[in-house]
Amino acid sequence: MKVPLLDLVSQHASVRSEVEAAVNAVVERQGFVMGPEVAELERQIADLSGARHGVACASGTDALLLVLRSLDLAPGDEVITPAFTFFATAGAIHNVGGTPVFVDIDPETFNLDPTATEAAITSRTKAIVAVHLYGQMADMGSLGSIAETHGLTLIEDAAQAIGARRKVGGEWRRAGELGQAGTLSFFPTKNLGGWGDGGMVVTQDDALAGRLRSMRLHGGTREYLHEEVGLNSRLDSLQAAVLLAKLPHLESWSAARRTHAARYAAGFAGLQSVIAPPTDPLNEHIFHQYTIRAEGRDELHQHLTDNGVGNKIYYPLALHLQPCFGHLGYRPGSLPVTEEAMTTVISLPIYPELTESQVDRVVEVVGAFYG
Ligand SMILES: *Cc1c(COP(=O)(O)O)cnc(C)c1O
Repeated sequence: MKVPLLDLVSQHASVRSEVEAAVNAVVERQGFVMGPEVAELERQIADLSGARHGVACASGTDALLLVLRSLDLAPGDEVITPAFTFFATAGAIHNVGGTPVFVDIDPETFNLDPTATEAAITSRTKAIVAVHLYGQMADMGSLGSIAETHGLTLIEDAAQAIGARRKVGGEWRRAGELGQAGTLSFFPTKNLGGWGDGGMVVTQDDALAGRLRSMRLHGGTREYLHEEVGLNSRLDSLQAAVLLAKLPHLESWSAARRTHAARYAAGFAGLQSVIAPPTDPLNEHIFHQYTIRAEGRDELHQHLTDNGVGNKIYYPLALHLQPCFGHLGYRPGSLPVTEEAMTTVISLPIYPELTESQVDRVVEVVGAFYG
């Protein structure tokens, strides 16, 4: 039995008629840019995120870029972020002229460590970009108080955590609800994926939403009048239509991912060499990835691949050790928890359409490796 890491073909089969009808409506109308689907998607995703506004754009990377540009950073201004994340998080900080300051993570959740975050604040720090890695929210309560105490902007990179929840101050809050802005990605492999690139910023801030709407359209609030120089970063109506058709399924897809995760956890319970991903009891995880820590990780990777089990290492080289950030002066040993994670993690199939026997097969292949 083969178990792919992800099976978008089977997901498409389950939503084909809804998605095709939505796409055809756009095609028949021939309205491809900034159509009503985009505004409707913005409204629905803002609702899902507990935010007042959604501003759609061309990718999750652009969502980060737009928010970070709105900070108007000066050279030397610092933005604190984890090094254990997808490249875009730090790439966007660099591309708006800021200096990424990499901070270590919590060994259980792989998310930004609040104590290390506070210790890294200097007089040049302007913002914190927290990442809700693998679908589990960072400690927004602690990070929120730190940001408030030090007058910093707190941004949530929620590309992997759409619809995830966390109890903060006794109440369930959504990914994107508590930061000054949250950024989302609709890249095809994300939990809510389009037929190409797409992204969105969600925010409670009316003024920020207005500025982002202008910035994604060359920085003009009226046609041919430009208050600032912006980007061309829109979401196509076709993508919005696909995403609107899929969105009603997102909650049940996330629930299916949680069910698979529980089955894996039970299956791995007797294996000393595998640490299943713990969910912080304050979190409702959406399992964008199911990422274990494993002894002999690289050999396990080969064994899984040889036995037809899809797997991937997110992320094999943390950002503080990337050649492009060499000038920042980090060395092996700078972020020990991050470096332990990058040498031991491996992600297993967790997509909603997996069957129980496929999950059991993955457990069996992992178990066989450890004999
Ligand atoms: C996917 C991802 C992004 C970038 O989103 P794109 O839509 O691919 O540009 C940013 N941050 C994280 C954590 C991601 O996983």
